[in-house]
Amino acid sequence: MKRTLSKELSLYFTSNFPKNLKASSKKNFVLIGIGGNIGNIKRRFDKLFLSLQSDARFDIIKTSPLLKNPPFGYLEQNYFLNGVMVLKTNLSPKASLKAFQRYENRFKRKRSFKDAPRTLDIDIIFFNDQKINTKELIVPHPHWFKRESVLIPLGYVI
Ligand code: AMP
Repeated sequence: MKRTLSKELSLYFTSNFPKNLKASSKKNFVLIGIGGNIGNIKRRFDKLFLSLQSDARFDIIKTSPLLKNPPFGYLEQNYFLNGVMVLKTNLSPKASLKAFQRYENRFKRKRSFKDAPRTLDIDIIFFNDQKINTKELIVPHPHWFKRESVLIPLGYVI
């Protein structure tokens, strides 16, 4: 199902996005943003959902619907599809980032230039209520409150 929000923004409702799942006894709450604008993104997000569901390190608590929205930065590229997922994990922030980067690689993300088209981007937006500022990880994600691609999906999981 598709819901048009404006000329530029629409929400897609699929079998795994949005979804409400089980509670979890894992100790850390992590909110990730997922995005992509190459190929069949809905199918890729479904594969990511299934992979995370069978990954014992993570429990999926909730997912948002998917927001189709225009690119920023480099504008000569397709619209993006973005969503958020609420997960629980016993991993540290750094180990979680590593795990998500492995997923990005598995889904053949190519790094070419800043804001370039991408198959799968996974960002850690929140990790509990922690503030992290290291070379490899900034949490909360520095731009989360400025981006429709985060804010609109976020409204569906809080
Ligand atoms: P990007 O190309 O936008 O996905 O950026 C990837 C780089 O951002 C990686 O080298 C990460 O170490 C770094 N990074 C910093 N903060 C975060 C975050 N909150 N979530 C994901 N990657 C992050």
